Amino acid sequence: MTTRTVAFLGLGAIGRPMAARLAHAPGISLAIWNRTTDRAASFGREHGARVAASPADAARGAEVVITCFPVSADVESLLDGDAGLLAAMASGTVLVDCTSGDPATSRRIAARLAERGIGYLDAPVSGGTSGAEQGILTVMVGGDAALLERVRPVLETFGKKIVHCGPIGSGDALKSVNNALLAVSLWSTAEGLAALTKAGVRPDVALDVINASSGRSNASMNLFPDRVLTRAFPRTFRLALLDKDVGIAAGVAREQKVPAPLLQLTAELFRLAHVELGEEADHVEAAKLVERWAGQEIA
Ligand code: NDP
Repeated sequence: MTTRTVAFLGLGAIGRPMAARLAHAPGISLAIWNRTTDRAASFGREHGARVAASPADAARGAEVVITCFPVSADVESLLDGDAGLLAAMASGTVLVDCTSGDPATSRRIAARLAERGIGYLDAPVSGGTSGAEQGILTVMVGGDAALLERVRPVLETFGKKIVHCGPIGSGDALKSVNNALLAVSLWSTAEGLAALTKAGVRPDVALDVINASSGRSNASMNLFPDRVLTRAFPRTFRLALLDKDVGIAAGVAREQKVPAPLLQLTAELFRLAHVELGEEADHVEAAKLVERWAGQEIA
């Protein structure tokens, strides 16, 4: 088996388990980089990857470079300078950006890479940190379909459903709409359950019925039973990132001149929740703001 050299940059909540899948995959030699160096060092100790000193150091000699940062602008900021990706990526290599990014910035990054013969795919993921640990993420890919086929075996280390969505930016657009739907169901389920609890219906009873009926969603089937009713609110996906995603989806609708009052309102609500609850709050904690407004805990 030939060994493929891969670099992974951005060992956050989702990046770390994705990179761990790569580190343990046969036939892959992995280099990693993270802004906070302690996190990269501990990953290197645990999983045995080469710990790089800079983005350029990670990318040097890599056939595929994977990035996973909060926003596309973070990826763009790592392109230039002696320590930047462009200083080290060779013509014929590929940047796969797993950030849930925005289509316009992805197109701009792709154009800069193309000047040097470097390929680009936007490839945001869905399935959460547990999906990453199990290697069963959904990967939505924008860009050249033939390029995707070249890197598919690398993406299969952490992805199960890997779908070509269209031109560059279409993975980002689809991911943002998916997350906007999550945000709508999360918020509306919180409102409905707060009202029902106040009206004397126990939320576990309400969810039992809803989950056997047409109002069910990932929020009602998983998030509320596991995280809200238990008051566990584990921190797996930051509210700040969902705020960013809904904002991107609202922007996509605006750009396409599609009237989308519900998406615009949801973007406003998540902006507000983000400001109220802070940078480290989990996305499901948005339900706490609904509870505060209602004067009713969903428990
Ligand atoms: P985190 O906030 O947990 O981690 C962000 C990572 O990016 C960290 O490694 C952080 O480094 C690094 N980083 C942040 N800003 C910069 C910067 N300016 N320059 C260099 N490095 C930077 O985010 P997640 O891992 O949760 O999310 C990453 C992406 O994946 C986001 O776009 C998110 O929307 C998406 N996503 C997340 C999911 C989840 O369940 N968490 C699920 C699906 C998609 P440092 O260690 O130094 O802080």
